Amino acid sequence: MMRIVIIGGGFGGLNAAIEIRKKLNQPKHEIIIISDQADFVFRPSLIWLPFHKHSIKKFTFPLQPTFEKIGATFIEKQVKEIKPKRNHVICNDDETIEYDYLIIASGASPDWEQINGLEGKSDSVYEISSALKTKKRLQEMKGGEPIVVGVAQNNSNPGIAYEFLFELVTYLNERHMKCPITFFTYEKRLFDQNGTEPTKMLEELMAEKQITYYCNVSIKQVRDGKVDLSNGERVPYSFLLVLPPYKGKEFIFSSKDFTHYHGILPVNEALQSSQWENIYVVGDASGLEGNKNGRAAERQGVLAADNIIRQMQQKPLRAFQHDTFYFMELGKEGAMLIISKSAKHEVLKWTMSGMMPHIIKRAFEKLYILKYSNLLFKSWGKDS
Ligand SMILES: Cc1cc2nc3c(=O)[nH]c(=O)nc-3n(C[C@H](O)[C@H](O)[C@H](O)COP(=O)(O)OP(=O)(O)OC[C@H]3O[C@@H](n4cnc5c(N)ncnc54)[C@H](O)[C@@H]3O)c2cc1C
Repeated sequence: MMRIVIIGGGFGGLNAAIEIRKKLNQPKHEIIIISDQADFVFRPSLIWLPFHKHSIKKFTFPLQPTFEKIGATFIEKQVKEIKPKRNHVICNDDETIEYDYLIIASGASPDWEQINGLEGKSDSVYEISSALKTKKRLQEMKGGEPIVVGVAQNNSNPGIAYEFLFELVTYLNERHMKCPITFFTYEKRLFDQNGTEPTKMLEELMAEKQITYYCNVSIKQVRDGKVDLSNGERVPYSFLLVLPPYKGKEFIFSSKDFTHYHGILPVNEALQSSQWENIYVVGDASGLEGNKNGRAAERQGVLAADNIIRQMQQKPLRAFQHDTFYFMELGKEGAMLIISKSAKHEVLKWTMSGMMPHIIKRAFEKLYILKYSNLLFKSWGKDS
């Protein structure tokens, strides 16, 4: 019998657990999921919290019943350390959980401290609590306040900034408020990793909405109500929302036997830790090249599960294949769907406008929550 332990009940951890249980017989192998949150959070919906009347219950569900259904053990605790030489996970109450294989799917946190002077200055949409704080700040906003939205150097999911920016434009328009808006990003051109069409659409929107923007810039410092950019611009703000670089969770820093970069763990193409062959790292916690998003975390969770089973059976491991499936909603200004099968594959883009994109995204959220809270698929226990 093997014991597979998963840290995290987000996109990566949830999909890893389900995939393992689909392929391995329950009594023979044990699956334990440890998460410091009782609920799954569909984080893409956090973008709506500051702007829309959107109930938190609609995009969260309790993890315990889902894991119970698949015959996995759910432990709601915070992990404080991993001792990989002993195969031990230590929880904050000092409980020690032993593993044969470990999947780290604990996500990442915004690393405000990496940017000089940024800490405590920027609003945020990374967690429910910070998105609700941002909502309150926007409710207090007055016409004329200078707004700055930006993507700091080394951030690995710039799409969130574009979504926030155009939700904000719609929000201000609906309230007949005029505020000067400046946008900046480290990208060479606006959202330029997916061909030229998304860039063109965003450039047109920026011009139409009279948003000043700077590309290919980094933040030098944030001081005295101004953002100093590497191109020499000093941009004053009254409301600031910056996407910072990510860092790994605290327990990575406390786990002395791991090398890491700001708490982000290096892996090989099979998602196996560069140091420990019975540890896999997926999603935002991993140092694998490429953008961090929910789809990548999901697919990596499934692959890590599959590779653990392959490793048990002494079969060669499979490498992660990058793809893109990104639906970017831009307030009422439109949306784009970007699909590519691999980094080399041609990109299929689809742009649309009006309320349709919002309806599609809400429907996707509903379906996702329904699928995973009720497990609308049954194929457990196909032992391999
Ligand atoms: C506003 C916003 C909009 C987004 N929009 C999109 C989008 O449109 N499309 C898209 O694909 N992606 C989007 N993303 C990105 C996506 O949400 C993340 O990339 C994804 O959530 C990463 O999944 P993960 O499983 O790696 O980590 P997470 O979803 O962060 O899950 C981490 C899990 O680990 C647990 N955990 C953390 N620390 C510990 C600990 N010490 N002990 C125990 N458990 C712990 C947490 O409780 C959680 O269960 C968006 C993100 C945000 C914030």
